[in-house]
Amino acid sequence: MVKTQPRQLCEICNQNPATHTCKHCKRKVCTKHYNKQTETCSICTQALCQICGRKLSIGYCITCGRLGCIDCLKQIDNVRRICIECLSKNKQPILPRITGPQKITQQLFSHTSRK
Ligand SMILES: [Zn+2]
Ligand SMILES: [Zn+2]
Ligand SMILES: [Zn+2]
Ligand SMILES: [Zn+2]
Repeated sequence: MVKTQPRQLCEICNQNPATHTCKHCKRKVCTKHYNKQTETCSICTQALCQICGRKLSIGYCITCGRLGCIDCLKQIDNVRRICIECLSKNKQPILPRITGPQKITQQLFSHTSRK
């Protein structure tokens, strides 16, 4: 996949000459589609963490709904995440008590162990 174009166009608009390279996706983009502050293309800028604005987001906070990166989101369970800002606001984190399979198996055992 080696393209040797003398003048590469922006990979987003395909109109303006590409003058920058996105830090994250390595797209070649024009100044219009490049965010100098984050050094990313406009597509990645939308996908960036809305808390620190540096890393790509991996999900969103269940409390404030903002996108967050792996550093700014803390996992609550398999699907839910909360951002560090909401976590610090809520002194008591809304971590659910682990009513996991342990308890269920114990109940099962107490039933089956009956003679
Ligand atoms: Zn462009
Ligand atoms: Zn990008
Ligand atoms: Zn972040
Ligand atoms: Zn939040």
